Amino acid sequence: MMNDEALVQAKKHILSVSVKPDTVMTRGKGDWLWDTNGRRYLDFIAGWAVNALGHSPRVLKRALARQAGRLVNASPTFYNDVQAEFAELLAKHSGFDRVFFCSTGAEANESAVKLARKYGALHRNGAYGIVTLTGSFHGRTLATMSASGKAAFKPLFEPKVSGFTHVPINDIAALDAAVDDSVCAVMLEPVQGEGGVYPADAAYLEAARRITRERNVLLIFDEVQTGLGRTGRLFAFQRHGIIPDILTLGKGIGGGFPLAAMLCPEALNIFTPGEQGGTYTGQPLAMAAGLAVVGEIIKRDLSGRAETMGALIQKRLHGLAARFPICNIRGEGLLIAFDMPGIDTAKLRDACFADGLIINAPQPNTIRFMPALTVAEKSILHMFRILERVLERTIHTSS
Ligand SMILES: *Cc1c(COP(=O)(O)O)cnc(C)c1O
Repeated sequence: MMNDEALVQAKKHILSVSVKPDTVMTRGKGDWLWDTNGRRYLDFIAGWAVNALGHSPRVLKRALARQAGRLVNASPTFYNDVQAEFAELLAKHSGFDRVFFCSTGAEANESAVKLARKYGALHRNGAYGIVTLTGSFHGRTLATMSASGKAAFKPLFEPKVSGFTHVPINDIAALDAAVDDSVCAVMLEPVQGEGGVYPADAAYLEAARRITRERNVLLIFDEVQTGLGRTGRLFAFQRHGIIPDILTLGKGIGGGFPLAAMLCPEALNIFTPGEQGGTYTGQPLAMAAGLAVVGEIIKRDLSGRAETMGALIQKRLHGLAARFPICNIRGEGLLIAFDMPGIDTAKLRDACFADGLIINAPQPNTIRFMPALTVAEKSILHMFRILERVLERTIHTSS
């Protein structure tokens, strides 16, 4: 049988980097994914907070098909017209002047680290230290793993890239103490995504901005997960009006096409030719995807929609909390998590998957939702029906 064959091939030849269910996905539409057996799944992880417009949206299909017929790749040697148009769109809506395009969030953050070190070399007597947060996630290249404050990364792949120190989130005194003469930048996620959806509070972000500005240190916001409407604003930094010096974007920016970006003001347009680049920087297909997806997010105000739908999900979760051990409901827009003390949420996630619902368990007692920004209200209601059914089956109700 075809479907079993694909599973056998995958299990035999795909390098093992994570534990996966015995399922091979083959098709997606809107909020739904189908496997090779024709089973469908309601998708509340949306390509890992990536498919902003859902699966195979018409605008993305059209943009890619059109661009494939015009120009697939011109080489990084030249500007191309879609790159120019997309850079202008991002600049206009973010307030930044310059954009470096790349393919993954890790690469965008790696780029930010390099830019911060260049700034340190030029303006901070060679300072190269970067302060990041405990529990943060910045990617899987060696430098971004070193930057990440994820405990499980600590013993891996030594020696790490040096120069990174970690301080706890929302602890202003710890940040204040860490930003000394050896530091060129502070890097943080406005809402920690992989860490379990922990927002940095407004007072902390304000303090981070004040401390870095006073000491001529750069403030980098990693908005790979929070950017492009996910948190109910086009960019998460807009919620509290704290403007970073460097902004990194990824995930939702391409709606599923590999695309990421680093943005900065004109004053940080300081790389010397040869110091930064990449074969796929400004790749026309990626630019066309980004232009279509970001254009759609803006045109349809999907940020505002994420805020509304997120509020609906949080309200329903508070309702469920009366009957099940659900607490610490948190998040912004359509990046939402909650804790279930004493419950193995990886098992709960697997039980939901068996019932046709895809959710994420970022921590042993935590569940996270990150559906498409276009998630239908009826999909949200359907998700709660499945979740409730699974909870009733697997957990003793308190009533
Ligand atoms: C996913 C993520 C990254 C890494 O992005 P990749 O595209 O997987 O390299 C970096 N930072 C944050 C906040 C992320 O959520």
